[in-house]
Amino acid sequence: MNEKQFSEKLVDQKPKQANRLIFKQKKVLIVLTLLFAVALIGYAPRIFSHAEDIVTDIGAHSTFHYELTRILAVGTGFCKSDAETIAVANEATDVGSFTGENGYSVQIRHTSRVGNNSPYWHFARRGAEYLRVSNSLVTTPPTSAETCDYFAATNMQCPKDSNGQWIPELDGITNWSLYGANSLTPPNGRVPQFSTDGGATFSTVQGRTLTSLGLYLHSLTDSYSHEACMQVAKLRSHQNTPTECNANNWHIQLEYGNSSSEAGVQYTITAGTAAWRAMNNFRAINFPNISPVWTESQAVSFITAWAQMNNAQDRRNYAVSQYNSFSGCIR
Ligand SMILES: [Zn+2]
Ligand SMILES: [Zn+2]
Repeated sequence: MNEKQFSEKLVDQKPKQANRLIFKQKKVLIVLTLLFAVALIGYAPRIFSHAEDIVTDIGAHSTFHYELTRILAVGTGFCKSDAETIAVANEATDVGSFTGENGYSVQIRHTSRVGNNSPYWHFARRGAEYLRVSNSLVTTPPTSAETCDYFAATNMQCPKDSNGQWIPELDGITNWSLYGANSLTPPNGRVPQFSTDGGATFSTVQGRTLTSLGLYLHSLTDSYSHEACMQVAKLRSHQNTPTECNANNWHIQLEYGNSSSEAGVQYTITAGTAAWRAMNNFRAINFPNISPVWTESQAVSFITAWAQMNNAQDRRNYAVSQYNSFSGCIR
């Protein structure tokens, strides 16, 4: 029953001799129903799309996957149109279909947060070549960046090579995006496809493209965003407990704010720094004519200040004002 039918039913049931009091009660009920519906619509993105911490006129999205990625991309030396391509693909890896603020729109399939490929794209394990999270707030800080170690004793171990070394999922994703290797191994065998004509036609996302970089950055930074849950609960999905695995607690509250009290902030800062390095690797390998605009210390300062803003709108405003102050690019 939709809301209109519900209201009509209320009207149908209204006795002809309804007195003023009953009418008032029903009016209150209708108002409460409407308020509840509005509250539910407003809250829904946080329930069903965990990483979307803000809703603007371009829809519910993550300030990390869109606004922060975009500013880091222009800091890396990409033109704004390229930065949009990268950041929109990054966000669409989560939401499937996304349009950026310059109107660039993409649909991505086979990377959904639900279904067989969810652990591969959103809960990938990392190798030791990436940055390690150092966090004095967690009881057992990781000794390595190698997140396969968390699953060494479970039936969810990373695959191993012939020498017995772990093969984290991000190895394949990295080699695909940076070097164009045919190295994706999603569980259901379906590699990502994308559409830029509203879903009329889809093509396979090729490695060494800006769209592949968006997907790679998504998986890499999600590997940090979900690391605490992997460490504590040996889990590659979300559940209500412990706190590290609770999408609302972790993604909305603990990943941002005061880094000395919020357990997730160090993961956010490390994820941002890892994304910066990954973008620069991609640039150096695939666009050697582009020079970075920011130094790494400028990027890390920005990421650190940004992650410590508790309010999603503040983070967005900070990233957007910096983004707007960039002009020109080399390419
Ligand atoms: Zn994700
Ligand atoms: Zn999540």
